[in-house]
Amino acid sequence: MAYLGNVEYKADEKGVAASVKCPLVDDWISPTDCMENQSVGDQFIPTQFKKNPDWKELCAGCPFRDY
Ligand code: SF4
Repeated sequence: MAYLGNVEYKADEKGVAASVKCPLVDDWISPTDCMENQSVGDQFIPTQFKKNPDWKELCAGCPFRDY
């Protein structure tokens, strides 16, 4: 298991994150879902990522931002 900052991830054979334990859902997500959350408008982010009232700040400060 590997960490970037305090966020856990599973690396592929090249060491690149293949799965990220997103702090917004405290569960494994794909890098594609992570990138989509970063690039779309707030209203298009799936509701399960917005349960934490501080989700925006958490995501903005996440080490996987612009990974
Ligand atoms: S950048 Fe946002 S969506 Fe991606 S892992 Fe971090 S908190 Fe989750």
